[in-house]
Amino acid sequence: MRTEFATIVLGCGGIGSGALYWLSRRLGGDVLGLEQFRLDHDRGGSQDHSRIIRLMYHDAKYTRLAPHSYTAWEAVEEESDVPLVLRCGGVEITHAQGPFREDVENYARAMDAAGVAYERLDHDELTHRFPQFQSDQEMMALYEPQAGLVDAGKGMAVHQILARGRGATILEECPVQAIHPGPDGVQVETARGTFRAQRLVVTAGAWTQQLLASVGRPLPLTVTQEQVTYYATPHLKEFSPKRFPIFIWKEEKDIYGFPVYGQVATKAGIDAAGPPVTPETRTFQPDPVRERILDEWLAAHIPRFLGPKLATKTCLYTLPPDRDFVLGPLPEHPAILVAVGAGHGYKFASLLGRILSQLALDGSTEHDISAFRVDRPALTDPNYVPAHRI
Ligand SMILES: Cc1cc2nc3c(=O)[nH]c(=O)nc-3n(C[C@H](O)[C@H](O)[C@H](O)COP(=O)(O)OP(=O)(O)OC[C@H]3O[C@@H](n4cnc5c(N)ncnc54)[C@H](O)[C@@H]3O)c2cc1C
Repeated sequence: MRTEFATIVLGCGGIGSGALYWLSRRLGGDVLGLEQFRLDHDRGGSQDHSRIIRLMYHDAKYTRLAPHSYTAWEAVEEESDVPLVLRCGGVEITHAQGPFREDVENYARAMDAAGVAYERLDHDELTHRFPQFQSDQEMMALYEPQAGLVDAGKGMAVHQILARGRGATILEECPVQAIHPGPDGVQVETARGTFRAQRLVVTAGAWTQQLLASVGRPLPLTVTQEQVTYYATPHLKEFSPKRFPIFIWKEEKDIYGFPVYGQVATKAGIDAAGPPVTPETRTFQPDPVRERILDEWLAAHIPRFLGPKLATKTCLYTLPPDRDFVLGPLPEHPAILVAVGAGHGYKFASLLGRILSQLALDGSTEHDISAFRVDRPALTDPNYVPAHRI
């Protein structure tokens, strides 16, 4: 078996599969992907039917990148003819007189600065356009027409299949056990032998911490066990993507949700509400307390969204203290590149993959990723106070 490659991708989940695809476009067979589990496993952060994609973000570091996330997915759709992004529109909602109004205004300002098209809806306009939403308090919303969902499971599979089609090697059930950076590249030890490459791309999600600690760069990442619930609403037509947008409702903890997609069900979750875990201590058991909180919230705000629960699926966030991506080389080992999606990275998975391929092969990218540096204060200052709200 070949053991020398130009680039090795460690972890073939959402972002790693994107990196494999974009690397294979330039390297063909000179790229190796190593995945500890089977490619379709559901132990990480990416395995599900849908993830929100949107241009609406709270900060320029994301609004300037977001349009390129669509372009990257379009290139993959173009090559595969498999539809991955569904633009059903999206709303950022809150109570007009409530404590989180300023959060939504942050999004409006960031979109104004980036020239992102959106509409401001008052209570009547919102309930006229989307009567599914209700509240005993006055609501307000920003409607962003390009928002929608990206099919996470399909997106990963298409990236992997196209990469293999271009000659890339992907080894499943092949955990990387050790990383040895050297003067002219990196050696990785696995259960199936030792492999070498000029560049190593670490896209290991919830496992990133321990892998980087092994090369002297422990990052203060918090892994949390999140969950989403699928509801078999009888009002399928009312919640079809043609009639219902993705939504993010700004509350103490954001509530987000999807129209009917993937499963014959609506889906919703509470953002960053899960307990800290490790990949070893996480469970697949839904938390009934969070389930009840979500049920009650939906009953008060989108009652017809509900139905018999089909499933509650657990999944892992990997959170830096400032909840910004981690993206770039390790200062002490520039041959090792790392990417962490910070609990909101799937929409960018193909673009992050493309950027990682540029960093690995050209040493630079046209995109401004300076805010995501590995050695930024949030990742190096032990006194940095974590803030996971976006
Ligand atoms: C409930 C939930 C809802 C979300 N909603 C959204 C959303 O709406 N929009 C959005 O943009 N993002 C969302 N996210 C975040 C997004 O899904 C993640 O940021 C993204 O999927 C992370 O991808 P990843 O490639 O970093 O991690 P993963 O997909 O977990 O991939 C890491 C891979 O590395 C492998 N690996 C680890 N260690 C090793 C090793 N030693 N050897 C070999 N392989 C290894 C793992 O097995 C895994 O396959 C959500 C996440 C969750 C959990």
